[in-house]
Amino acid sequence: MSGSQRADVVIVGGAIVGSAVATFLALRPDWDGRVVVVERDPTYRTSSTTLSAASIRLQFSTPLNIEISRFGIGLIKDLGRWLGVPGAPRPAIDFVEGGYLFLATPAGLPILEANHAVQREHGVNVALLDPDDLRRRFSWMVVDDLAGGSLGLSDEGWFDAHALLQAFRHRARALGVEFRAGEVVGVDRDGAAVHGVRLADGGSIDAAVVVNAAGPRAAEVAAMAGFELPVRPRKRFVYHFDCRAPLGPAPLTINPGGVYFRPEGPSWIGGFSPREGESDPDTLDLDVDRAPFETVVWPELARRVPAFESVRLLDAWAGHYEVNTLDHNAVIGPHPDVPGFLFANGFSGHGLQQAPAVGRGLAEWIATGGYETLDLTPLGYERIIRDEPIRELNVV
Ligand SMILES: Cc1cc2nc3c(=O)[nH]c(=O)nc-3n(C[C@H](O)[C@H](O)[C@H](O)COP(=O)(O)OP(=O)(O)OC[C@H]3O[C@@H](n4cnc5c(N)ncnc54)[C@H](O)[C@@H]3O)c2cc1C
Repeated sequence: MSGSQRADVVIVGGAIVGSAVATFLALRPDWDGRVVVVERDPTYRTSSTTLSAASIRLQFSTPLNIEISRFGIGLIKDLGRWLGVPGAPRPAIDFVEGGYLFLATPAGLPILEANHAVQREHGVNVALLDPDDLRRRFSWMVVDDLAGGSLGLSDEGWFDAHALLQAFRHRARALGVEFRAGEVVGVDRDGAAVHGVRLADGGSIDAAVVVNAAGPRAAEVAAMAGFELPVRPRKRFVYHFDCRAPLGPAPLTINPGGVYFRPEGPSWIGGFSPREGESDPDTLDLDVDRAPFETVVWPELARRVPAFESVRLLDAWAGHYEVNTLDHNAVIGPHPDVPGFLFANGFSGHGLQQAPAVGRGLAEWIATGGYETLDLTPLGYERIIRDEPIRELNVV
């Protein structure tokens, strides 16, 4: 469909973040505007959302990130209330409350302890374990080089990301949101006012509010409105493997070197992010490289878990982190000089769990001109302009 259309809000990108913004707007009894979500890949095969490791944790070092994920876990645990559609089966996303386990060597212990103090202060159900505790709880793990671990005892785990996306979309559609297939190629703006978007098929949508929910392509969409956004697409691989020896229940475990693994049904997934200073080029390709499984992932896994010495790589995929190169934190809310242009970007590997709170927050802002529940102002675009990073120490 081409031609011009009118809406109150246009959302560029219809994966988890765009769909969450649309849903929370449509859920508001005090707002009855028209929302159109434009999505260039309606299969979602290339979206970060469906290529992610689909996990949620409260173990962050920044209180605001803890609160953002707390709302996410609340929604996941009460999905029917938030996303149930009358007359349709209750949405199901197979949530496994398996916990996260951050491991630390003596060098990393002070940060683990500092994070623990922040998390306890904010009511996170987390335990600091010494090597003996670790050995007792996880008999399959080598702990000789470790000084401790931080284990989430509740409200952390993993789920089916595609199912959560579909639940948001279903709810949004049932509330009257329109999802339109197409690629946004231009944002019309005249000084401080936004007028809408132009599409690759020649069509256009007039709207006074445009939300950038374009994931790894967020900087492209920001540039269409004339704004620089330091969000870059960085490729991450997920390796899916099996292990003949049964380990029993295991949390999502993050090794001190950065390699993580977690159960995936009867098998396992794992991966890593390059460390500070290592090559991490911008790219939008999704080609898979299996070599790092042999050179980086498997050696670390086998050192930590002897049973992983004999694993078999089943398959692997690539997805994109939308890395905010300023501080690895999300950029949320209106441009200070152009309030009709809103950012929902730069989640840097934790956007799936942040989508519910970000969707709710932007809906509040659009409907009322401010945040009503969680104040997301610290994550605003102003800090990008001022070059003032917010340090989050628990980045995976
Ligand atoms: C390997 C990997 C593991 C991850 N693990 C986790 C995890 O465990 N927990 C977690 O919380 N997060 C995780 N993430 C991060 C999470 O997946 C993302 O932060 C989140 O999915 C971002 O959602 P989004 O909707 O902003 O982006 P996306 O899902 O990428 O969606 C953006 C959408 O915008 C569309 N789009 C882009 N440009 C345009 C345009 N011009 N016009 C129209 N449409 C456009 C795209 O087609 C896309 O569908 C992981 C990511 C990866 C890659």
